[in-house]
Amino acid sequence: MYDQFADFDGHALVTTRQDHPSGLSAIIALHNEHRGPAMGGCRILKYPSTDAAMKDVLRLSRGMTYKNAIAGIPYGGGKAVIIADPTMKKNVGLLHAMGDFVESLGGRYITSFDSGTSLDYVRTIGERTNFVAGTLVEAGDASGTTANGVYHCMRAAAEIVFGSPDLCGMRIAIQGVGNVGGRLAERLARDGASLIIADLDPEAARQVAGQTGAELSAVDDLLGVEADIISPCALGGILTAQSIAGLKARIVVGGANNQLATIEDDTRLLAAGILYCPDYIANAGGIIDLHYQRSAWSAEAVERHVLVLADTFREVAERSRTTGRGTAAIANVLAEERFRPAARRTA
Ligand code: NAD
Repeated sequence: MYDQFADFDGHALVTTRQDHPSGLSAIIALHNEHRGPAMGGCRILKYPSTDAAMKDVLRLSRGMTYKNAIAGIPYGGGKAVIIADPTMKKNVGLLHAMGDFVESLGGRYITSFDSGTSLDYVRTIGERTNFVAGTLVEAGDASGTTANGVYHCMRAAAEIVFGSPDLCGMRIAIQGVGNVGGRLAERLARDGASLIIADLDPEAARQVAGQTGAELSAVDDLLGVEADIISPCALGGILTAQSIAGLKARIVVGGANNQLATIEDDTRLLAAGILYCPDYIANAGGIIDLHYQRSAWSAEAVERHVLVLADTFREVAERSRTTGRGTAAIANVLAEERFRPAARRTA
């Protein structure tokens, strides 16, 4: 039934809901449940068509299976999308209807925030279902943990390429200084890194530059600046044949999802001698935090687990070195080893 969508990958469940009183139009897709219930955020976007929303939710839910497996947490991959204008005023009725939709799956899907949804929205959804994650007050905003994971993977990459994890004196370019990139910049500045940043929002860029001493770059120039490390923390699809040809950095590690435009770009990075940390390893800190928020959260437990991401990246980089395959391809194989049925509960 969903075979016409290239992103359909034998998903475990795809279900839609139209709720006329509230105006909810939503899709939940569960890609794989072998490791446990499917977890992934709920996105609100004004999709141009239902097919566009379906394509997005199928792709994103599949990505969550890989991310949750590589993060070593007991969850499968799922995602929800609400077709609506993300800039609209908060609509409690719509969010409650979404909560009812999540609840109707009886725990097969656990939702959280994503683009277009805030923690406040997740709390409102959570008034109708317990199957939400990320609302534990003492944990704060999980974006901080995402930034922390990027930071540790960056140190691992520096050790592999430059022989030391110390980022002091490294020139690091950050694309996008929002929730993740902004926090990363603060951490790197404390380490003594020399930063260069760009953001579409000039005020956000100026603010972070003021706090960290970062140099400002034009948005269009950032990927090609002279730097040791590039950290994409804005949007996906930015590593293309063209942008890779212009990269001067030897390392790419960032929080943005789906950084490679195509899987061929993985091979291009390898051929260019650039070490790429697969995005879903670098940015899995947030989902690890959500896992602990649903079990036994403590800052120490989360930090210990986030450090494992850097170990996983080291393993991926080593396998890449010995096999001559790109790091993204290796990460996919490693994740698949972890979510195949036989691998359940062993990784
Ligand atoms: P955000 O919206 O807070 O920040 C993104 C920033 O990037 C914004 O300030 C925006 O103005 C800027 N931006 C957009 N396009 C840009 C461009 N072309 N050049 C420079 N700047 C640009 O988002 P976030 O929560 O920081 O997430 C950043 C990325 O990380 C996204 O791809 C997101 O999906 C991914 N991610 C985030 C988390 C998390 O915990 N927040 C977890 C996993 C993955």
